[in-house]
Amino acid sequence: MDGFGCHCCYGEDVATLWANLSVVLDVVTTLVDKSHFDVSIRRCQACQQQFVFVFTEITVWGEDGEPQYSTLIPIDGAEVETIVAMGQRPDLKWIGALGQDRRWLYKNWPSGASASIGWSTGTAHLMEGY
Ligand SMILES: [Zn+2]
Repeated sequence: MDGFGCHCCYGEDVATLWANLSVVLDVVTTLVDKSHFDVSIRRCQACQQQFVFVFTEITVWGEDGEPQYSTLIPIDGAEVETIVAMGQRPDLKWIGALGQDRRWLYKNWPSGASASIGWSTGTAHLMEGY
């Protein structure tokens, strides 16, 4: 693969992976903690791999539920430092571009539809929720 993670945090079975993430990953640093927008650094308890996690929720009036998007991108130590230094206004373009050379996990839950979970590669299009 591309040298990131272990079977607990970067394995092939995305449904199991996603279901266990809150147990497997510790929150190391929280950069943004809003009700519709959450950016944090997380670390695998098993292999110490670190990730940047971005949660975005969009307020849609009159719709059947609010769309939610979660993105989890593995990062190395230098990237952790760069992101932490961004503080409460993380550069989402920079973070999203990390996906260009590694795979990342997403959960997309559009309004009124069922959620989809999977691996993706390429730029992650991250946005601040509202
Ligand atoms: Zn791991």
